[in-house]
Amino acid sequence: MTNDAPSPADARQDSANHGADHWAGQDAWCLLHTAFGQGAHFLHTWAAWRADPLRPRMLHYVALTPHAPDVPHPPAGGGWPPLPADPVARALALQTQCAGLVPGQHRLCFEDGQVLLTLCIGPAQALLREQQFEADGVVLAQAQPDGCTPDPWDDWAVKALVRCCRRGTQLTLWQPQPGVQHSLRQCGFVLQEPPDGIATDCVAAVQTQHGVFDPRWELKTTREPWRRARAAPQSCAVIGAGLAGASVAASLARRGWQVQVLDQADSPAAGASGLPVGLAAPHVSVDDCVLSRLSRSGVRLSLQQARQLLIAGQDWAPSGVHEYLFDEQAPQPTRWHRHAAWIKPGALVRAWLGQPGIQFRGGVQVQTLQRDAAGWTLLDPAGQAITTATRVVLANATGALPLLQRTQAAQPDLPLGWHQLPAVYGVRGLVSWAAHDAPETRPFPPGPVNGSGSLIPHVPYDGDTRWFVGASYQPLGPPEWPDDKNHGANVLRLEKLQPALFEALTPVFEAGALQAWKGVRCVTADRLPMVGSLQDEDQSLWMCAGMGSRGLSHAPLCAELLAAQWAGEPLPIEASLAQALQARRRGLGAKTSPV
Ligand SMILES: Cc1cc2nc3c(=O)[nH]c(=O)nc-3n(C[C@H](O)[C@H](O)[C@H](O)COP(=O)(O)OP(=O)(O)OC[C@H]3O[C@@H](n4cnc5c(N)ncnc54)[C@H](O)[C@@H]3O)c2cc1C
Repeated sequence: MTNDAPSPADARQDSANHGADHWAGQDAWCLLHTAFGQGAHFLHTWAAWRADPLRPRMLHYVALTPHAPDVPHPPAGGGWPPLPADPVARALALQTQCAGLVPGQHRLCFEDGQVLLTLCIGPAQALLREQQFEADGVVLAQAQPDGCTPDPWDDWAVKALVRCCRRGTQLTLWQPQPGVQHSLRQCGFVLQEPPDGIATDCVAAVQTQHGVFDPRWELKTTREPWRRARAAPQSCAVIGAGLAGASVAASLARRGWQVQVLDQADSPAAGASGLPVGLAAPHVSVDDCVLSRLSRSGVRLSLQQARQLLIAGQDWAPSGVHEYLFDEQAPQPTRWHRHAAWIKPGALVRAWLGQPGIQFRGGVQVQTLQRDAAGWTLLDPAGQAITTATRVVLANATGALPLLQRTQAAQPDLPLGWHQLPAVYGVRGLVSWAAHDAPETRPFPPGPVNGSGSLIPHVPYDGDTRWFVGASYQPLGPPEWPDDKNHGANVLRLEKLQPALFEALTPVFEAGALQAWKGVRCVTADRLPMVGSLQDEDQSLWMCAGMGSRGLSHAPLCAELLAAQWAGEPLPIEASLAQALQARRRGLGAKTSPV
């Protein structure tokens, strides 16, 4: 072991020891590490990636850890040598993103989303069975030099590990023991034998043995549907330029796709995503239901995106949110969500659409899709071709189902999965807002509150500071409520949330001085978004819609999920959670009728 910082070449050599020596010139590289510890190996691999001019575009690092990591700043102890160049910023970024993680699977993004850490916290075997990817390299550590002791690696654990391997996956075994060596051989790994086979890892200062996954038997994995979704980056079309479409475009463009985003409106964020400001805050439930798990992961990703792309204090603020519960007579601020924010959706949409590889085309209504041998042709209402694409994503909210039905009517034999979608319906909503007095003397809370509706109290907008109360909820179908009735519903919410403020604002309500913003949410019967392929064999038509009242919390995560499926990468969430979001889920146990 050395105490000097490794040079980039050394770092490359170190990463080579960890199985990453084959990444040169690859589009993506995926390393699975079975003992995250305090993250030192991840930081070294990240440093090696940065230092290597031949690095892959995307580095995926999937790590298992029995407990939420307690990342020191910078990682120390346990014999790790100092990190190479600029270590403090990277360690700090890791430490910041690791704060407050709970058991489960988490996606942490670095380097503008090119270095993705998927942290799986909990029992190794169970979490390995939630994975859908093939690792290029595996580091199997039975105990970390920085003190973390993961589960023992018996036959069952190694079998779960093998699910994440392809023929040729490189293995680095730390601290080889006869028991685990036997299990690895049983499961299809070929281990290098001494004297060449055993070496010392100069970063981790542990004995290592190398190997490769190369079983003598044929692998029966080709029928797994997720493997058929993979496609090399080329060009694709996304219909809808709201939070869903723009985030999908950004996630795909980051992976090398050329993306055309089409919208019937002239400018982006013209639908529900034209909302002036909204909250990204986790949903909490006693049984930690699917929606809660999804929103917890989603909000973290949304905040990362906002931090990376938006101007704090202008386009968003990591304000946190106080959530009030109404079991008692008076509201109590019973929950403080630190990882929560107000965000202007339009700013996020425009930032995503401004990423390299994305072209926005406004003023084009897609009337139908035509399938031929080459791919899809998108047609306008006059039957004229708008564009062609090998893959299409429907991210046009409540417009998606009618578009599929029109397409089906024109081509009855085309296998489109629209009848397997959950029930989807539009829900109108109105946000009430007004500008603050200067100076403001009324008792506004310092930050956003939610519970019964929401109040976002101090948002800079067009030269003044505004407050927003929302949001009314009226299913499409019956005649639209007049604005006064919507404002009345919002004012009642405010009275419950902030009685003293409600009193102080009564003159504003009585003067009819509230302004309005209106939109339509796309809601599914089970309140979960729809993300996935619409066909089994030919996975060229996809959907990302149904964001409901939580587009700010869900859209970036859904986009990463879709892009991960296209790239055959590690998913940002557990496979079982991804399954619950599958667009074609009718008949899979989900509620399907409107509620
Ligand atoms: C009143 C209200 C308050 C809300 N508050 C919050 C909040 O606080 N936090 C939160 O997270 N979410 C909130 N939401 C929900 C959030 O706004 C949505 O979840 C999100 O904007 C949906 O994004 P989307 O891209 O799926 O849909 P949209 O933004 O509606 O985008 C769909 C796009 O598709 C286009 N389109 C449709 N059909 C076609 C076609 N055939 N051809 C071409 N283009 C087409 C439309 O023009 C539109 O631009 C609120 C919504 C409302 C209405």
